[in-house]
Amino acid sequence: MTPPALTPDTVAPARPPWARPRGANERGATIDTYEVFAIRYASLANRKASENFIGGDPHESASDLDYFVWLARSKARTFVIDTGFDPEVGARRGRRMLNPPERGLGLLGVDARKVKDVIITHLHYDHVGNFGLFTEASFHLQDEEMAYATGRHMAQGFFSYAYEADEVAAMVREVYKGRVRFHDGDAELAPGLSLHRIGGHTKGLQVVRVRTRIGWIVLASDAAHLYANMNETRPFPIVFDAGAMVEGYRRLRELADSPDLIVPGHDPLVMRRYAAPGADLQGIAVRLDQRPK
Ligand SMILES: [Zn+2]
Repeated sequence: MTPPALTPDTVAPARPPWARPRGANERGATIDTYEVFAIRYASLANRKASENFIGGDPHESASDLDYFVWLARSKARTFVIDTGFDPEVGARRGRRMLNPPERGLGLLGVDARKVKDVIITHLHYDHVGNFGLFTEASFHLQDEEMAYATGRHMAQGFFSYAYEADEVAAMVREVYKGRVRFHDGDAELAPGLSLHRIGGHTKGLQVVRVRTRIGWIVLASDAAHLYANMNETRPFPIVFDAGAMVEGYRRLRELADSPDLIVPGHDPLVMRRYAAPGADLQGIAVRLDQRPK
């Protein structure tokens, strides 16, 4: 499929596909190939269908949830995508930490203190905790997500439930330090890696599209918690805009080179469909730039 049009904000005008050198993006820069990893740091069992799907049966048991952070790196750049939940916040909310995200990153040779780019898909507690460990990083966030997390809807528990006011406030302080890089919709952060606002689950949720040796893959984060949410069009119950969430399933398929290259944000099947990058990372991380089983 053709990559979606990204809006070049500064440099050369976009070239049509036929005028581009092979392996180049719209601006003529060579596209990097990324290694991509999912690092599992927590899990949650005993789910009911009604907790995973709108209209699900409250008596029927359903898939567990796994919790991940993701890593995408090329020769030139390293991007960490989301930072997991804070262990105390997780414990208060009944979530069991298996392995702190910074430890999983460390096993893959990444020191949280040296990372320059952290993409925050959205500000829910299980995606933005621990961001203080990334002392050198810029945080890539959608305008719409910060507006949502600090705006009128947070007065309603239905929308604010998965946010931690202290974490949102701490991120506001990072804005004042100049460390938040805001994006509005689609944004190319580097040749071969771009952000795309989907909304739905939260108003400013973004997903990450990454060029790998097997093609363009998409880290869906909470645009699809589980494979079943997107494949069966059964939306997840924590939602701001159900229409945008369902439209998001279509958008994910448009962004990925094939539907099996979309990686859902909380599905335990991810750990089974992909292989660990090494024996020491069994059960901790899997490599996503390989064909899933
Ligand atoms: Zn979420």
